[in-house]
Amino acid sequence: MFVSDLRIEAARLTAHSDPIEQRAIAAYLGLAVGDALGATVEFMTPSEIRAQYREHRDIRGGGWLNLRRGRVTDDTEMALALGRSILETGAVDARAAADAFSEWMRSKPVDIGNTVRRGIVAYRRTGSTESPVREFDAGNGACMRCLPVALVTLGAEVSAVDAANQRQAHVTHNNPTSDAGTLCVIQMVQTGLLGGNRQDLKRLATALVAANPIFAYDRKRVENPGGFIGDTLRAVFQSLFATEDLESALIDVVNRGGDADTTGAILGMITGAFYGADALPARWTRHLEPTTHHDCVSQARNLLKRSPAYRARAVS
Ligand code: MN
Ligand code: MN
Repeated sequence: MFVSDLRIEAARLTAHSDPIEQRAIAAYLGLAVGDALGATVEFMTPSEIRAQYREHRDIRGGGWLNLRRGRVTDDTEMALALGRSILETGAVDARAAADAFSEWMRSKPVDIGNTVRRGIVAYRRTGSTESPVREFDAGNGACMRCLPVALVTLGAEVSAVDAANQRQAHVTHNNPTSDAGTLCVIQMVQTGLLGGNRQDLKRLATALVAANPIFAYDRKRVENPGGFIGDTLRAVFQSLFATEDLESALIDVVNRGGDADTTGAILGMITGAFYGADALPARWTRHLEPTTHHDCVSQARNLLKRSPAYRARAVS
């Protein structure tokens, strides 16, 4: 064997046994399975879900979008579009993200949120990558697609992570509550990737609530969460901290109904990063469409490789 072959082999082996990379892949697949699982019961109430499924716990398609089993929706598709734009330009770039979102909308997606559509239409008309500040319109559409930012900024200062996220978020959602909630989700994902514990996740949620009480999650159980980022993250935090594994967490959150594909997607990325690849039920991941599965895995690897944490490793 040539030395160069050995080096490639060593790199391959390191890559395959890298726990951070395994967690990053689990986060991306967690996003996709949470989306696919929740989509079946999106916009249903908990009692409607109970009447129909007793407990919804399998990826089966259907729902108001009448999806094929394993089909993901805008949450995963926009994350993948954003991830592609980051890999093409080498950074979280507002224009590249806006172009990627616009191209995605042209592909006639199975679903698209109103705020997202309005933002993309405005970008096409004006060329501006910052939608106007909307104080009372804090949808969850920027948060649901934030995973590529969490991966590519691993190891960066929080202020740089926040700035990078705002570049992608403000194309469609320019709102401080959305920014704060999304940054917290990104930090939870990064904490999971780096092997943090439950207390670390709790501390992040507590700090978010202290700065913005709209996210206080220790009150009444959130059922039927709407598209408002406050509802979404309160449900996500309740399910995250009330359970001790990925499967129970996702089943708990999607059976609350409402914007279930999006609570599933966001909790899927957090719990994927936190609990790791072994926690993902094979009966869920095997239903993902092969191209979706492939794109999630390859983006997880390649985004992580470009992060400050990994670039520092490569140098040392
Ligand atoms: Mn969706
Ligand atoms: Mn949704």
